[in-house]
Amino acid sequence: MASGAGNRAIEPFELYAIRYAHHAPRKQHENFINGDLHEEGSPLDYFVWVARRGTQVFVIDTGFGPEAAAARGRQHYRMPADGLRLLGIDPEQVADVILTHLHYDHAGTLESFPGARFHLQDKESAYATGRCMCHGFFRHPFNVEDIVSVVRHLYAGRVTFHDGAEELAPGFSVHHVGGHTAGLQVVRVWTKRGWVVVASDATHLYANIDRGAPFPVVYNVADMFEGYRVCRQLADSEDHVVPGHDPLVMQRYPAPSPDLQGIVVRLDVPPVKAAK
Ligand SMILES: [Zn+2]
Repeated sequence: MASGAGNRAIEPFELYAIRYAHHAPRKQHENFINGDLHEEGSPLDYFVWVARRGTQVFVIDTGFGPEAAAARGRQHYRMPADGLRLLGIDPEQVADVILTHLHYDHAGTLESFPGARFHLQDKESAYATGRCMCHGFFRHPFNVEDIVSVVRHLYAGRVTFHDGAEELAPGFSVHHVGGHTAGLQVVRVWTKRGWVVVASDATHLYANIDRGAPFPVVYNVADMFEGYRVCRQLADSEDHVVPGHDPLVMQRYPAPSPDLQGIVVRLDVPPVKAAK
């Protein structure tokens, strides 16, 4: 496990998950390669995340809007940018957005961030525009208009590429893990409870990483397992790994204020209920 000792001089970030959409009913086999074909009861929540330290703000992923929700039968609660506004963050002023990967539920609504620079792994842009997209299996979770939008932002000088691990600010770094997509990156954030890893789709649910039961939308299963190891290594404990889509996140972590109940939770404080 990573040690927080030696990082005490780094000022911690506040860290939040904002829930903007939901998918239910959903069967077990949609979330686990070895899941039961018929058994229901494995819904997904959809989140964007934000790390804030004074005036410094990093938004992690941009989610999707109502059109994508309608096209894919998801329940859409709010625009991710409106979720940020609930925390007093003006999306038009956000300077840095991390795209963990380019699937439709993580890289839509780029237009909500007109002043932002988008941070992406080299391997993800190559994957989303290369030969794997000849196959519907790999193409399906992408929305081509999102990819075109990323390319337009690239040509406008607003994309920064990373290859592997990179620190964007003291206490804030991105780490390539791949697996779910070729270029998936996770984000490690220094908080007052230590190092928290926003795993995004390195593990959709707690059960994927806990049970070694991988999610079936996958580029490389071996890399996905290796990603579980990397997440654990980067986080201070298993309670410091935040999965990308687990409805339990909303139960385990507290809302920052009563009016944000069911919409936003704080990830920089210990979970109300332990992971195990
Ligand atoms: Zn996802």
